[in-house]
Amino acid sequence: METVKFDELQLDERILRAVTEMGFEAASPIQAQAIPVQLEGRDVVGQAQTGTGKTAAFGIPLLQKIDPHSKKLQAIALCPTRELAIQVAEEIRKLAKFMHGIKVLPIYGGQDITRQIRGLKEGTQIVIGTPGRVMDHMRRKTIRCDHIHTVIMDEADEMLNMGFLEDMETILSQLPEERQTVMFSATMPAEIQNIAKRFQREPVTVKVVKKELTVPKVTQYYYEVKPKTKVEAMCRLLDMYAPSLSIAFCNTKRQVDELVQDLQGRGYFAEGLHGDLKQMQRDRVMNSFRSGTTEILVATDVAARGIDVDNVEAVFNYDIPQDDEYYVHRIGRTGRAGKEGIAFSFVVGREVYKLRDIQRYCKTKIIPQAIPSLDDITAIKAEKIMEQVMDLIRDTDLTKMVALIEQTVLTEEECTSLDVAAALLKLSMGEENEDIIESSRPARSLDDLDRYGRDSGGRGKGGRSGRDGRGSRYGRDGREDREDMARLFVNIGKNQNIRPGDVLGAVAGESGISGKLVGSIDMYDNYTFVEVPREYAGAVLKAMKDVKIKGKNVHVEKANGKGR
Ligand code: AMP
Repeated sequence: METVKFDELQLDERILRAVTEMGFEAASPIQAQAIPVQLEGRDVVGQAQTGTGKTAAFGIPLLQKIDPHSKKLQAIALCPTRELAIQVAEEIRKLAKFMHGIKVLPIYGGQDITRQIRGLKEGTQIVIGTPGRVMDHMRRKTIRCDHIHTVIMDEADEMLNMGFLEDMETILSQLPEERQTVMFSATMPAEIQNIAKRFQREPVTVKVVKKELTVPKVTQYYYEVKPKTKVEAMCRLLDMYAPSLSIAFCNTKRQVDELVQDLQGRGYFAEGLHGDLKQMQRDRVMNSFRSGTTEILVATDVAARGIDVDNVEAVFNYDIPQDDEYYVHRIGRTGRAGKEGIAFSFVVGREVYKLRDIQRYCKTKIIPQAIPSLDDITAIKAEKIMEQVMDLIRDTDLTKMVALIEQTVLTEEECTSLDVAAALLKLSMGEENEDIIESSRPARSLDDLDRYGRDSGGRGKGGRSGRDGRGSRYGRDGREDREDMARLFVNIGKNQNIRPGDVLGAVAGESGISGKLVGSIDMYDNYTFVEVPREYAGAVLKAMKDVKIKGKNVHVEKANGKGR
């Protein structure tokens, strides 16, 4: 695992400053490969998934080519969704923070077009857009192509999945011949290879070549979390498992500092390790960790290299690593010297796909789990205190204390010695926090993500069907999302000429429950989710065995996780 620093990549000094400010310690593997090739002006096919640092991989060399003095449109990046377009625009803006006069504009369907036109007229050099809206502007001539020298297709396979193939071809065929064409895609289906063949000139393919790695025997769990609740989730796991030494990995120096602050603020013995520390500080942190004074070492991948500590009991992937290989290195920090180790990974939103790829590549099992609830933590804390209490009872003379309690119980009328014990337990457990993690359901199984494709519900509510990126939700009678409803998966959908009414009819008709009790029905191209009262779920599943809907055999099963 060789580290390439950004200052080895011959980058504009202003970009280097931005990268430092963003807290990046080193180039990610895909960046180390893609940036030099793209800087040479070559066409690139980059095979990389979200979370690998791909946006900066194409964004940095792109910025280096933009002439801020010209107010003409010079580059277009195409993205499959508005969310991604916004995200990419934000990342490029951050990278361009110290380059004055560069304007980046995201444009996508659903947003007021006149506002976009105004933005385009104000001298935008880089447009990040979804194909449909970009074509619309090209037709209106509010996007002029004559000065475009770079085009980027981000998540090309996703654009294909969403039915944008023709739009991509139309856009590419209208751009100037003299241009650089860069394509990033997680997978390389035939249609995407064909686009590369037709629209690129001798493209260089960059991908991270995977080595055969031995995955250490470490129990691996993962949790789906929201950014806001990550720290809380980590603290609960620390409380629950109480590892004596653990390492938490973050992707940026900034995140290391933030996490250390958060953990220290909550009373944990945590210290950070990253490239900005002087050797003396590093030594101090490492000595403190080795001696056990520091219980949690928070580090970047680069800084953690070469650390040789044997008795690390847990590894936290606070950020999902940018490269599969890092994952293996990280979790290998625990479970050494014949001891058992445990690894916890947190995923936010689409990072779950990155983790799925990691699981696939490492041929390992990363088990979905629910974040321990506050009740779980309370029970664990109480158990620990009670253990100490029992030790005290066994090993010390408590005569004086017994006398004091006796006195209290005798003088206070409505108070038993049990009440006193309970109150003392509460006191020693400290304040109870407000529960900010609303759902403690287990994360989805990474295998199930494969089964129904990428779109089986990973992006907020619902997967997608067709180009609008949404399934159809038939909310019924305000029943949606109630905790007392169970979500069932039915393996047919719109493409089989099924309507929500058909599913409703079948569920009610076969199980005998009233149609009014059936909750929302989310119908996608090839499958449908239907909510039924939890107490009837078993009966409905039983009744729906061997049932046909509109003459088609269907299979119904319990949907798992939030999306399914
Ligand atoms: P992407 O794969 O482009 O979606 O990037 C995923 C995340 O990694 C984004 O939050 C980036 O800001 C971040 N990132 C990109 N490059 C690096 C790097 N070299 N070091 C640390 N984080 C990075």
